[in-house]
Amino acid sequence: MLKDDEGQAKMVPLATLLEKDSLTASDMAGLLSLHDKSEVRRLYNKAYAVKRECVGTTVYFRGLIEISNLCEKNCYYCGIRRENGSVERYMMDETDILDAAGEAWKWGYGSVVLQSGEVSGDHYARFIERIILKIKKLFHGELGITLSLGEQDEDAYRRWRQAGAHRYLLRIETSDRRLYSTLHPEDHSYDRRIECLSLLKTIGYQVGTGVMIGLPGQTVEQLAQDILFYKRIDADMIGMGPYIPHHGTPLAKSMPDFDNVKAEQLDLSLRMIAVTRIVLRDVNIASTTALQAIEDSGRELGLKAGANVIMPNITPLAYRTRYELYDNKPCLDENEATCRDCLEARIESIGETIGYGRMGDSPHFKNRITRERFAQPAAE
Ligand code: SAH
Ligand code: SF4
Repeated sequence: MLKDDEGQAKMVPLATLLEKDSLTASDMAGLLSLHDKSEVRRLYNKAYAVKRECVGTTVYFRGLIEISNLCEKNCYYCGIRRENGSVERYMMDETDILDAAGEAWKWGYGSVVLQSGEVSGDHYARFIERIILKIKKLFHGELGITLSLGEQDEDAYRRWRQAGAHRYLLRIETSDRRLYSTLHPEDHSYDRRIECLSLLKTIGYQVGTGVMIGLPGQTVEQLAQDILFYKRIDADMIGMGPYIPHHGTPLAKSMPDFDNVKAEQLDLSLRMIAVTRIVLRDVNIASTTALQAIEDSGRELGLKAGANVIMPNITPLAYRTRYELYDNKPCLDENEATCRDCLEARIESIGETIGYGRMGDSPHFKNRITRERFAQPAAE
């Protein structure tokens, strides 16, 4: 049963809701609460139709390179948080990173994502800058570069943008300030996160954000507000996935029975992808590895619910096993070729094509830039 705007339980026909031009927060919360199988299927079908119309059915790959598990932060949910003393820390060297990027280029992946724990300071900023410049040069500007290196100062963001990185992923994790404070120590500031997202936009990145889904204490109303948050900040890309406990973290104690709830975590994540696609339309949405950690075919299910980007993990195996954000991370024992073949077959099995050799920029970004250009007063 869906609810009306006052939150009263009232029958709102699903067909009416799926045809509405603009969904309210309570409409979204209603859709996120669907459980009836045939209704959920209709939600996915609608999201897929919007995806087909607004971004097409080509899947874009970003090869994910987890360049370091060093982290100065202490997020309560994350396996590589600073205070997890059982993590063997690493930092990939320049050659290893460039080799991994070279593999991505050779396989026709249009982009790479450089991800790490949060490391601040001039030394790291210059190291990343050098890597970006080399990737651009070595692969003739044909490899897009997305960064996911956390909160940084303005100078680092600018330096990296100037060197040639053009997308940045920084999840808000939850747009609910109170819930955010239960996930992070006091010195991790929600406002600073927002400030970083705004800086990234001003500097000219395609900006990606997202949340974890199924967090302890999280409601569908908060998830609906998360979608409105994406809309408010005019995000170009969305990366969301289920929250999955890591045994070495404080938050894992709040979800001791994960095995019993994981099917619902997956389903809620898929509904969240679908509603986000319906509301935001032309953004890129990633079907994340965390979906696959719960269910083998999780990422294909994500594509069918409205996602259009996949980030195959191309971190060399020796490092990959040490980058455990959550328990049961998939593909820790497979080599790249096996992963690639398996992914290709999975995508073909749902009738989609892979955008080999294409960067697959967010259509929302292109539309946003055009919009902003026309909004400028004409030059003298
Ligand atoms: N340090 C950077 C990038 C690495 S973490 C940053 O924090 O932005 C990348 C993402 O992993 C985080 O944004 C978070 O949403 C996700 N993550 C961390 N721990 C997780 C967990 N236990 N379950 C699901 N996702 C998790
Ligand atoms: Fe560090 Fe990112 Fe993990 Fe937080 S989520 S502990 S910033 S790697």
